[in-house]
Amino acid sequence: MTMHVLCFLVFLAAMQRTTEAVEYSFSNNALSTPGGVRFRDEIGEEYAKQTLDSATQFIWGIFQQNGPGDRKNVEKVSLLVDDMDGVAYTSNNEIHVSGRYVNGYSGDVRIEITGVLYHEMVHVWQWDGNGEGPGGLIEGIADYVRLKANYAPSHWRKAGEGQKWDQGYDVTARFLDYCESLKSGFVAELNQKMRTAYSDQFFVDLLGKSVDQLWNDYKAKYGNLP
Ligand SMILES: [Zn+2]
Repeated sequence: MTMHVLCFLVFLAAMQRTTEAVEYSFSNNALSTPGGVRFRDEIGEEYAKQTLDSATQFIWGIFQQNGPGDRKNVEKVSLLVDDMDGVAYTSNNEIHVSGRYVNGYSGDVRIEITGVLYHEMVHVWQWDGNGEGPGGLIEGIADYVRLKANYAPSHWRKAGEGQKWDQGYDVTARFLDYCESLKSGFVAELNQKMRTAYSDQFFVDLLGKSVDQLWNDYKAKYGNLP
């Protein structure tokens, strides 16, 4: 092999690594507000970007996405702190965090925002059943990851609480944790099946029971008869 060809192969290998790495960008657009200043002083750009990367690695692990072919093709994720209402939202691989929420939060705001970033980052990486997945399930998977990362806030509803399986957020997260206890890797497989479509039948396929039966079993386990 000539030196020239060898160099080209090294170049290709480097390119391959480059295309697998995710780039993170950060912009604090709320520095003229108390929330933007609190974000800068108590969280900071460096920690925020590190957390985006940690969250991504953690999510790939939970979803058992071991190679680029298993994952969404996302090259860049941006985090923006905005002067806005609400807590956070994610759109087009951009995570927007509310400076007003940061300002009003009482407690360790760094821990809280870490949990929020894990939740939002799931929306970047999860499959949504080609738009057919129930919103409550999408939010439940995001909070399930936050739960497994040990960033569930103390005010969350406890296991066994809630009215229906696809109520969303903490309720659905704890139900999914129950399903995971029945079959390790359940959430990863559910997400994988949601790559192209969604059906309640996925629960039957994976656990042998309808989602309604599973919800009844779950409620009964905690002494809450449906
Ligand atoms: Zn969400």
